[in-house]
Amino acid sequence: MKKILLILFISFITLTCNGQFLFSKTQNENIVLKGLNSYTQKDLSIIKSIIEKYTTFKVQYQEPVNNKKLEVKTGRQNLTYIDCDDVQKLLGHRTYSNYDMKKPITIYVTRINIKLDRRHLQGLCYGNQIYLQINTYSKELTTKYLLHEMLHSFGVSHCTNNCIMGNFKIHEVWANKYRVCSDCRRNMPEYFKL
Ligand SMILES: [Zn+2]
Ligand SMILES: [Zn+2]
Repeated sequence: MKKILLILFISFITLTCNGQFLFSKTQNENIVLKGLNSYTQKDLSIIKSIIEKYTTFKVQYQEPVNNKKLEVKTGRQNLTYIDCDDVQKLLGHRTYSNYDMKKPITIYVTRINIKLDRRHLQGLCYGNQIYLQINTYSKELTTKYLLHEMLHSFGVSHCTNNCIMGNFKIHEVWANKYRVCSDCRRNMPEYFKL
């Protein structure tokens, strides 16, 4: 009897100490995709195929956000931008990063330039909301920015290595594809197939 109790106790310890086991039982495994102002159905299906190739998440489409008031023209070249904080406020979301694992991650996909304050960005993560400007010239760059922002959702921060979370230069994208360094790999959830 004592032996059985000991075995039960050890297996309980193993299950509770294995973070990934607990994580996968509580994590919402859905990704919601929404177009934002300017996008095509093909853009959304490209993003869906990338997510399905490199992660185990289930992707759902939901109604897009279309609001021309979000678009502002700024800079010398008078380019059209959407400020991500404005979208967050409009949709009733936070303007700081905070991940709630019980809620799905929503990815807003757009062809319009996105910015935060005055900085032009390719992607931005607020935890459960991700903004991504699709790169119509390069699926590789789109993939890299998408996976980079998705890893931010799970708290993986920037590193200084030659890595998808590093401050990579564009020519490094071609050479290293979607490399994850050993530091970031330790924090990478099991959903990623990288
Ligand atoms: Zn980043
Ligand atoms: Zn790294």
